[in-house]
Amino acid sequence: MPNSDNWLDEMIEAFEAEVVNVRQAYVKRMSQDYYWYSPILKRQLESHFGDCVAAPRTEQELMNVLSFAAKRKIPVVPRGGGTGNYGQIVPLYGGIVLDTSKLNQAIEIKEGEGTFQAGMKLGMIEKTLHESDQELRFFPSTFMKSTLAGFIAGGTGGIGSIEYGTLWDEGNVLELTIVTVEETPRKLKVKKKEELAKYIHSYGLSGVLTEAKITLAKKTNWNDMLIRFADLDQALLFSEKVAINSNIKKRLISVCEAPLSTSFSPIERYTTKEDATVLLQIDPSHQESVTKLASTYKANVEDTFPHYIHINKLRVSDFSWNHVTLWWLKQHTKDTYLQGRFHPDHYLEQVKQLKDRFGDKVLIHFEWIKVKGAVVPSSQPVIRYHSPARLQEIIDAFHEFGIKVSNPHTYLLEEGGKDDWIDQICVAKGENDPYSLLNPGKTKRRANKKQIR
Ligand SMILES: Cc1cc2nc3c(=O)[nH]c(=O)nc-3n(C[C@H](O)[C@H](O)[C@H](O)COP(=O)(O)OP(=O)(O)OC[C@H]3O[C@@H](n4cnc5c(N)ncnc54)[C@H](O)[C@@H]3O)c2cc1C
Repeated sequence: MPNSDNWLDEMIEAFEAEVVNVRQAYVKRMSQDYYWYSPILKRQLESHFGDCVAAPRTEQELMNVLSFAAKRKIPVVPRGGGTGNYGQIVPLYGGIVLDTSKLNQAIEIKEGEGTFQAGMKLGMIEKTLHESDQELRFFPSTFMKSTLAGFIAGGTGGIGSIEYGTLWDEGNVLELTIVTVEETPRKLKVKKKEELAKYIHSYGLSGVLTEAKITLAKKTNWNDMLIRFADLDQALLFSEKVAINSNIKKRLISVCEAPLSTSFSPIERYTTKEDATVLLQIDPSHQESVTKLASTYKANVEDTFPHYIHINKLRVSDFSWNHVTLWWLKQHTKDTYLQGRFHPDHYLEQVKQLKDRFGDKVLIHFEWIKVKGAVVPSSQPVIRYHSPARLQEIIDAFHEFGIKVSNPHTYLLEEGGKDDWIDQICVAKGENDPYSLLNPGKTKRRANKKQIR
C-alpha cells in the first residue's frame, strides 16, 4: 500500500475530475488485462487493483502526476490499451493506474518514419499512415485497442514480423521519449540500440514513455489467403517454404493444427475439424506462386476467402497470434496456452515429440517471424488445461525437447523468458525511478522490492 493515508484526497484536490477517476468499478476495470488466459495468473491477480486512474491530457499533466507520486511515494502503473497477457498493468501494491490513452496525437510523419504520442492506438496510427501511402512495419493482432507505448513496453512482434523482425531488431524503434518518476521529473530521449533495449518489453519498470519514433513501411494492398491441409506436417512444411522464400512478399504466415480454426466463428465456414489451416497475407503479385506452391502440398486453397473477408469487413489478423487463443478460450473456457520458440531446423521433430507425448492436449499454433534476420517459428500452442502440475509437466517437456519457453503464467518479467536484458532494465530503473514506484512487484530483483512499502 502507498505510505500515506490521505494521498487520494490530496490527489483529487490537486487534479481536475477529468484527470483523476476514483469510481471503484472503473478503477477495477482499468486495473485488469488479459492475464485470465492463465489459470495460474487468474488466481494470483484477480483481487489486485489500483486506488485511482489518472488520465493526463498533456505531457505536462503526466509529469505533474509523476511528481505527485514521487513526493508521496505512491506506486504508478502505466497503462495503454490493457491488452497485455501477463498482468503487466495489474497494480500489485495499489496506487495510480496511469492511463496514457489521452496522449494520442501523431507528432510527425515523414517518408519512412513517424513520431507518435505514447497512447495513440496502433489501429489509428495505421489508418493515419494510409493517407501518406505508408503502413506500420508490424503490429500485434490487438492493434485496434493497443497503444504504441503499450506495444513497445509490453509486446514483442506481430503481423509484419516475418519481414521486419521484432521490437528489438535494429531500425524498428528509432527513438523513445521517457519521463522519470522523481519530485521534478526529467524528460529523456534515447536513440542508441543498447539504450532503447532498457525500455523495450520493460513492463514500464524503467520509465514512462511519452513519445516514440518508429520506422514505417510503404503501403501494400495485402491479399488474405486461407489454405487447408489434411496433414499438419504438410501445413508446416508449406508455411516454412513461404516463410524462407525472400522473393515472396508477405505480412503474415499463421499455422493452426486441427481443430483450432473451427473456433474462428466469423470464418468458420472455411474450416473443418479435420484440417490444419494456414492463414496468409501476401503481396497480390505473389498470390499465384503461393497458390501453385500450395498445390504441391495437397492443399485446398479457399478461392472465395479474400472476397468473404473483404465484404464482411473482417481482418485476417483477428485469427492470428494470440487471437487464436482468444477464439479457442471463448468455447473452451478451462484451457490455456504456452509460448515457445521451436528450433528452425528441428521443429517438425519437436512437434512430433510433443504430439507423441501429449496428443491433442497440446494443439500446435505457429507464426513464422524473423529474429535478427533469421526466419524462425514462433508458437503459441493451446494447452488443454488440467492442473498446475500437469501444466508444469508440459513446460518441462518443452524444455526437454529443446523448445525455448516464454512462460505466460508468471507476471515476473524475467521469468517470462525475457531474462537477457533485465540487468539493463534495472540499471535504467535505478536512474529513472529512484523510489521504485513504477509497476512494483513485476521483477524479483531485491533492489526493486526493497523500497516498496
Ligand atoms: C488477443 C490478444 C492478441 C495478442 N497478440 C499479440 C501480438 O500479436 N504480438 C504481441 O507482441 N503481443 C500480443 N498481445 C499482447 C498485447 O496485446 C500487446 O503486447 C499490446 O501491444 C499491448 O499494448 P497495450 O497498449 O494494450 O499495453 P498494456 O497492456 O496497457 O501495457 C503493456 C505494458 O506496457 C506498459 N506501458 C503501457 N504504456 C506505457 C507507457 N506509456 N510507458 C511505459 N510503460 C507503458 C504497461 O505498464 C504494461 O507493463 C496479444 C494479447 C491478446 C489479448
